Amino acid sequence: MRYISTRGVPTDQPRTFTDILLAGLAPDGGLYMPVEYPQVDADTLLSWSKIFREEGYAALAFEVMRLYIDDIPEDDLRAMCQRAYSVENFGSREVSPMTQLSDHIWLLHLSNGPTAAFKDMAMQMLGQLFEYVLDKTAKELNILGATSGDTGSSAEYAMLGKGGIRVFMLTPSGRMTPFQQAQMYGIDDPAIINIALDGVFDDCQDVVKAISADADFKQRYSIGAVNSINWARLLAQVVYYVAAWIQASGTPGNKVSFSVPTGNFGDVFAGHVARSMGVPIDQLIVATNENNVLDEFYRTGIYRVRSSEQTFKTSSPSMDISKASNFERFVFDLVGRDQARVRELFVDQLGTRGEFSLADTREFKDARRKFGFLSGSSTHADRIDSIQSVYRHDRVLIDPHTADAWKVARDALRGGAVEQPLVVLETALAVKFSETIEEALGIMPEVPERFASVMDAGRHVVDLPNDPEAVKALIREVVDS
Ligand SMILES: *Cc1c(COP(=O)(O)O)cnc(C)c1O
Repeated sequence: MRYISTRGVPTDQPRTFTDILLAGLAPDGGLYMPVEYPQVDADTLLSWSKIFREEGYAALAFEVMRLYIDDIPEDDLRAMCQRAYSVENFGSREVSPMTQLSDHIWLLHLSNGPTAAFKDMAMQMLGQLFEYVLDKTAKELNILGATSGDTGSSAEYAMLGKGGIRVFMLTPSGRMTPFQQAQMYGIDDPAIINIALDGVFDDCQDVVKAISADADFKQRYSIGAVNSINWARLLAQVVYYVAAWIQASGTPGNKVSFSVPTGNFGDVFAGHVARSMGVPIDQLIVATNENNVLDEFYRTGIYRVRSSEQTFKTSSPSMDISKASNFERFVFDLVGRDQARVRELFVDQLGTRGEFSLADTREFKDARRKFGFLSGSSTHADRIDSIQSVYRHDRVLIDPHTADAWKVARDALRGGAVEQPLVVLETALAVKFSETIEEALGIMPEVPERFASVMDAGRHVVDLPNDPEAVKALIREVVDS
């Protein structure tokens, strides 16, 4: 399998999986995509079903990912899948089990990993792959990131103990939930460096950008990232769509639909990849919160990004985005993989006017039938209502992000836009967002057994001013010592 950029300048040769593993954007500013989606037939689906039921998630992950990774020996890849998707990491061999709720809705549990958010599903595999490739090339990597909560902790737990890797993670001082803070700051390891920056999340991101713009520093200190546009992360997420289809149907003729709480479009894009491979998926529902850039696109054909002032702070904060970084990948497929057209839309139009429209195009009009996308959005009041409703009917606590997807799913089902089986992706455990749960139900979510000690762990974090030079000085001090 080779990979090309969505924007495709002719000088960039197609690359292998390990070539693009540590890369962020392609040199032309586009995103890497496989040259084609491998197709799976009914026999393959049945054999995957058997493998999942008999051997579990890790074995299925190997079967799916090997179709996209042909420059790592199969035994090594299989071993990495086993380590990433172990019972120790995810609590069961199924890794992502399902529960059936009322209203014919299934809940796919993706939050059983070390940090109680679905980011672990991809990040645990990324940790394995990074360590493997760095070891082969005898290189070191210093991951520099900014987080408002979920991504940072997931990256730290995935990279913990991996040879050749350090993590420098910027957090907005005092602005994460107590659980998120305890989870990250509790890690006591010289390779995990938490930084509490005197500023908000945007300041953290600006500091990362400023440091990454210093090419000499970046090179000298091997600065890398674990951002949401990484192809390996998306690929790892394809697996749970297959696992969900097996659990909800498992019969090649029977399709399943999904409702996905969406921010940067990584999670739902993985569903699109699964569907494009021939996994029996009917509709993919893009569920947004008040930051509804994507819902607007699927309703109108207009993609209009927002500024940070126009981006609302909501009670499903991991979906508070102004533009969706993986969306370009979907548009690439939508316009028939025409790279010049993608450049025109994302560089010429979006870059200058902040929006583009496909409303009058034939591709957009065909999109629903051809790609099976639906969309909807949800408000704070809807989230509260959804959390109450699911708790009342099923005694199941869902987190605010999952609540967004549940609300849009139920509306689509009631309106006849989608048929069952319909699977809602659970992207975090309620305990991470206890304030909103308390507002909805008047109770605090129970802290799961495996996190019982989290709140009492020590506090390993360096307080720094909002200044890229201060962060650079810390990186120099740690790396050079
Ligand atoms: C990251 C995240 C999302 C959004 O996922 P995308 O892949 O960015 O669309 C939704 N819910 C939670 C809890 C998250 O952490």
